[in-house]
Amino acid sequence: METYTDTKHHIQLHDLLFVTLFSEKQVQERVQELGAALTLKYRDKNPLFVSILSGAFVFAADLMRAFDGNCTVGFVKLASYSGTQSTGKVQTVMGLENDLEGRHIIVVEDIVDSGRTLHFFLRHLREQKPASICTVAFLRKPDSLEFPVDVEYVGFDIDNRFVVGYGLDYDGLGRNLAGVYQLQE
Ligand code: 5GP
Ligand code: MG
Repeated sequence: METYTDTKHHIQLHDLLFVTLFSEKQVQERVQELGAALTLKYRDKNPLFVSILSGAFVFAADLMRAFDGNCTVGFVKLASYSGTQSTGKVQTVMGLENDLEGRHIIVVEDIVDSGRTLHFFLRHLREQKPASICTVAFLRKPDSLEFPVDVEYVGFDIDNRFVVGYGLDYDGLGRNLAGVYQLQE
């Protein structure tokens, strides 16, 4: 099915209709704030931004450009298998090429839902003896959290509804939308 926009506020992707949750302007303002906060803390620490693929690549690209100081970037691809909610495991499909020992790591995630992905990934990172780890999530659904995970910086807390845009997809589509859109009920 074709993707089309019927107004600025409604987007259809495949069979579903989405409505604006955050405009491009709101998103960009918040990302600048997060970048400024990270700059205060990490300006002279040459942090390593670790972007979790695929969804976080858009956020990571903007966030690291909102960071004023030397920094590097790396990418990981994780796959979560959720046979049952409680035994769901997360597997690394594509690992980091960077040496993490002694580095200040800023994990960049698109959205924290159950927390499963981050919970397992942070455990894996800690084994590699970085100097510090913090997590930045563009979005978080507080009502869905099942796994204990600390997220130091959050773009927006949102309701437990499916969203697309700014890197997030519905069956492949929607990642290129500059704003965030929520499934229409
Ligand atoms: P968690 O491991 O925290 O349950 O899930 C995190 C991952 O699930 C996110 O990185 C994202 O890929 C996916 N996810 C969770 N909620 C949404 C949503 O509302 N929209 C989209 N597109 N993906 C989501
Ligand atoms: Mg993700």
